[in-house]
Amino acid sequence: MNNISNIIAGAEKIGCKYRLDAPMSEYTSFKTGGKADVVFLPSTELQLRSILRMCSDEEIKPFIFGNGSNLLVSDDGIRGVTIRLSNNFEEIKLINETTIYCTAGTKLATLCKFALEHSLTGLEFAYGIPGTAGGAAYMNAGAYGGEMKDVLYSCNHIDFSGNPGRLIGEQLGLGYRCSAYTDKYFVITGLTLVLEKGDKEQINAKMQELLQKRIDKQPLDLPSAGSFFKRPEGNFAGALIEQCGLKGFSVGGAQVSVKHAGFVVNKGGATTADIMELGILVSEKVLEETGVQLEREVKYIG
Ligand SMILES: Cc1cc2nc3c(=O)[nH]c(=O)nc-3n(C[C@H](O)[C@H](O)[C@H](O)COP(=O)(O)OP(=O)(O)OC[C@H]3O[C@@H](n4cnc5c(N)ncnc54)[C@H](O)[C@@H]3O)c2cc1C
Repeated sequence: MNNISNIIAGAEKIGCKYRLDAPMSEYTSFKTGGKADVVFLPSTELQLRSILRMCSDEEIKPFIFGNGSNLLVSDDGIRGVTIRLSNNFEEIKLINETTIYCTAGTKLATLCKFALEHSLTGLEFAYGIPGTAGGAAYMNAGAYGGEMKDVLYSCNHIDFSGNPGRLIGEQLGLGYRCSAYTDKYFVITGLTLVLEKGDKEQINAKMQELLQKRIDKQPLDLPSAGSFFKRPEGNFAGALIEQCGLKGFSVGGAQVSVKHAGFVVNKGGATTADIMELGILVSEKVLEETGVQLEREVKYIG
């Protein structure tokens, strides 16, 4: 904790906000998880860079997250340094007629509305995904036939020595729910997205249509992290889980959603251990009955 105290003292000097013993259940869409020793909430790139440099000096690898909508945090919490880039790190601007730059904490909803405002098409698929732009780039988030790969031109990042860098195009390594940043411990600071000029009314209609699909099909009234498993080649995790009769199957407060079997929900009082155990039991049963190995999409930390 001594090393962390030095970073906290440094953060105070540069006016970077932080929270001690931060309950991660307040920062994750699953509403589970223990306390993080400290969560830093930088509001400028300068603050972020200073925190990362102090971490590097103290040989601490911080954990970075955005909106916590694809995250399961251990019930024991997170030791060391955690950095949140969400509404504390939100900025968006038009670079030219069809190019947008936004900082990593910008919500996808904000980004989609900004594109709409400027009659730019290409991001409609992302409307309704409750993450940040940084989290979406890291995960190559996608839905309804679209993915970040289609619109992401480049990402700015900072490595853990505090040095800035940039990945462009192919270098981003965007694949199914993964990118060159996956498990790499770089911090994505900003995204450049290239869209196309479109018709405002049509863009809006598409966004509303896709949002309505989510409302109709997904258990949005209960805490979750969206699809719990990745889509297996040539199949759907939800269909396989339903086929195995697991809709509604529960462990403690964790449940396979009765509305959409691809979602695990916190029906009340779930712990992360409940959710993890449920995930293991479901994938074991699916493997036994269908021969398909499911892989968890949701990231676990702790
Ligand atoms: C109801 C619901 C519906 C969903 N629907 C979809 C969907 O249709 N399609 C889809 O793809 N996902 C979906 N998701 C999952 C989730 O919203 C996406 O994966 C989203 O992109 C995660 O963004 P986030 O900011 O919440 O990331 P977090 O959950 O905070 O983090 C996810 C991962 O990204 C890393 N990360 C986050 N920000 C940064 C950064 N700035 N720099 C480096 N690493 C970073 C974290 O370390 C972590 O490993 C859904 C989730 C919910 C709850």
